[in-house]
Amino acid sequence: MSVSVKTFDTAAEAAQVLSNDRAARFMGGGTWIMRAVNEGNQSFSSVLLARDPVLRQVQVQGDRVVIGAGVTMAQILGHGELAFLHRAAKSVGGPAIRNMATVGGNLFAWHPYGDLATALLALDATVTLASGNQQQALADLLRDREREPRPVVLSVTLTRPQQGAFRFRKVSRVKPKGISLLTIAANLPQASERISGARIAYGSMADTPVRVPAVEQALEGKTLDEAGIAQAVAAATNGIEPPTDAIASSWYRKEVAPVHLKRLLLEAAS
Ligand SMILES: Cc1cc2nc3c(=O)[nH]c(=O)nc-3n(C[C@H](O)[C@H](O)[C@H](O)COP(=O)(O)OP(=O)(O)OC[C@H]3O[C@@H](n4cnc5c(N)ncnc54)[C@H](O)[C@@H]3O)c2cc1C
Repeated sequence: MSVSVKTFDTAAEAAQVLSNDRAARFMGGGTWIMRAVNEGNQSFSSVLLARDPVLRQVQVQGDRVVIGAGVTMAQILGHGELAFLHRAAKSVGGPAIRNMATVGGNLFAWHPYGDLATALLALDATVTLASGNQQQALADLLRDREREPRPVVLSVTLTRPQQGAFRFRKVSRVKPKGISLLTIAANLPQASERISGARIAYGSMADTPVRVPAVEQALEGKTLDEAGIAQAVAAATNGIEPPTDAIASSWYRKEVAPVHLKRLLLEAAS
């Protein structure tokens, strides 16, 4: 089966076509889509591209950060205002993948991928959809991302974390660019040295990156020391049923999650 490529001036036009054609796929950097084409995947027959400049823009106004869905991991790494995301962007693949892989594509990456999406989830990001500029919480997009019609994400908006509040850790068996067996992102804002409004997200612990409310609640009002985080570490896998795959079993993921959560929470702020 041949695959056609259609290019549009705006993401909204591509979204319009996508909403009426279940055999079409929007393409970001193509690290997944082109692999599927090369492997003869027959689940789609056309690829939609958009030249929309908004897709490639990064806008920083005060603490408000808007990142176009077509911005690549390499572009994040080259942007000084996005230093808090550098560790997450650098954890995605090797240099060739990071040059192509986009923010938007990472939101739709299948398990066990989605390392940047995990970081964005812990930052309480919202997405702007190309169709009608609708806003949606990233958590809602991730929950419904398999639903038809597929949306086109135009950009991701977030509030820059407090200095030293954001932490990210990807655990893999192959260094430096192995696939995640567990990714943890934590935003730990503090007021009077007590945690206020913690956001914790796991990657590779469910079909999509997920928030971990049990840990967030256990951290509320606590100090970031061994005694203060004890309840949170004990609750590390409450409500979480990780999948078993070629990287790790569900049992193993649950065993190691508290260990890595504890290390992340006690890590010196950078
Ligand atoms: C060798 C290799 C190593 C990898 N390593 C990692 C890794 O370590 N960590 C990790 O997280 N991922 C990894 N990936 C997966 C993938 O490269 C990344 O997740 C990447 O961010 C996907 O982005 P993309 O732009 O290439 O997506 P594409 O291939 O263009 O698209 C992927 C999916 O996202 C959808 N999509 C893309 N952009 C949008 C948009 N703006 N709106 C709506 N839907 C959209 C597409 O329709 C498709 O379903 C790896 C992939 C490969 C091939």
